[in-house]
Amino acid sequence: MNYYSTNRQAPEASLEEAVVKGLASDKGLFMPRTIRPLPQSFFDTIESLSFQEIAYRVADAFFGEDVPADTLKQIVYDTLSFDVPLVKVTDSIYSLELFHGPTLAFKDVGGRFMARLLGYFIRKEGKRQVNVLVATSGDTGSAVANGFLGVEGIHVYVLYPKGKVSEIQEKQFTTLGQNITALEVDGTFDDCQALVKAAFMDKELNDHMQLTSANSINVARFLPQAFYYFYAYAQWKRMCGADGGGVAPVVCVPSGNFGNITAGLFGKRMGLPVGRFIAANNRNDIFYQYLQTGQYAPRASVATIANAMDVGAPSNFARVLDLYGESHQAICADISGATYSNEQIADTMRQVWQQHRYLLDPHGACGCRALMEGLHPGETGIFLETAHPAKFKDTVEQIIGQPVAIPEKLQAFLRGEKQSVPMTRDFADFKSYLLHE
Ligand SMILES: *Cc1c(COP(=O)(O)O)cnc(C)c1O
Repeated sequence: MNYYSTNRQAPEASLEEAVVKGLASDKGLFMPRTIRPLPQSFFDTIESLSFQEIAYRVADAFFGEDVPADTLKQIVYDTLSFDVPLVKVTDSIYSLELFHGPTLAFKDVGGRFMARLLGYFIRKEGKRQVNVLVATSGDTGSAVANGFLGVEGIHVYVLYPKGKVSEIQEKQFTTLGQNITALEVDGTFDDCQALVKAAFMDKELNDHMQLTSANSINVARFLPQAFYYFYAYAQWKRMCGADGGGVAPVVCVPSGNFGNITAGLFGKRMGLPVGRFIAANNRNDIFYQYLQTGQYAPRASVATIANAMDVGAPSNFARVLDLYGESHQAICADISGATYSNEQIADTMRQVWQQHRYLLDPHGACGCRALMEGLHPGETGIFLETAHPAKFKDTVEQIIGQPVAIPEKLQAFLRGEKQSVPMTRDFADFKSYLLHE
């Protein structure tokens, strides 16, 4: 299947080109030429299928033309080596726990899938080394670094804002060594993202080395995120009865760069029953403002306790616009928004812990609150719990006033030694570093 650019100035690309390049040459984001609906029979029996079986059906619709069936199945099954359980929080609200992977955040799914798909293309073509550049506000870096760790023919550079990620997050991508290099940028996440974008546009750099992105702009990271929306529906059907009461669930996604929710919107296009979506923002509420006004006004990000959502210019907004033919009205028909301050996030975490004994992380808390406030009578809602609360241990402990146990997977990272390369936010410095590596 071919991929076109949201800017429509670049030629269409094959899957392999889209994955290797990341961004189209006209700076647009790649979109699959067709979004294939899955048959009704699939949805009728989905609750009898495993996560891996469901994910393979979805993967086949996107990648089946370009990757042999046995290879694709292997990639999907290897990627999903952990469960994504749906857990009941209140009578009408369910949490889709996306934090059971190696780095305890949802980005493990896209990171692991992309590493395996890119690895397949490199082996197939006998390509020279591919260099993955990834800007992170916290969780992307760890998911991508761990997804790619030890994959032959790939070197990963993680750019992260100095002093703006938690120690636990930092340790997950600065302690790995091997083919992973962490660059500690004196700036914000948006500066890191700007450096990565500038690198892709720099001719000299691209002649010198093969560069690709592993941010959620890459289709190989972005599309696999659709898998768990289907699996959430399967579990919801199991828990709520065969027809789920007849009303499709509302799905609420804590959003920053809008890759995760956009994958869900693709799922809906493929026939997945979703009543509507809610995009939950922290104070970086550019999308929320867009829904209210029809104006997209990116601005500098501000730091919040849900720091993986501190994004001032959500890159996947271009995909949302494209998917809905640029129609504000059509977007508003499918997606509503919510925006919360740090105090509201903290209140929600306390309330849900005290009343329901469910421990939220600050990102999931935005999602949970948007459902608590936004569900209509008779509706049920699913929010995506995008990271394990222990990843934000200090914040969470301060809010609920109780110690939070750190899972062994995280403790292992904390024992490692941080290694990073200091970097300014000046592109000339970054370029010179890469040219001389
Ligand atoms: C990345 C991240 C988000 C935001 O996801 P987007 O796809 O960028 O919208 C939300 N929560 C957590 C924990 C994250 O790591």
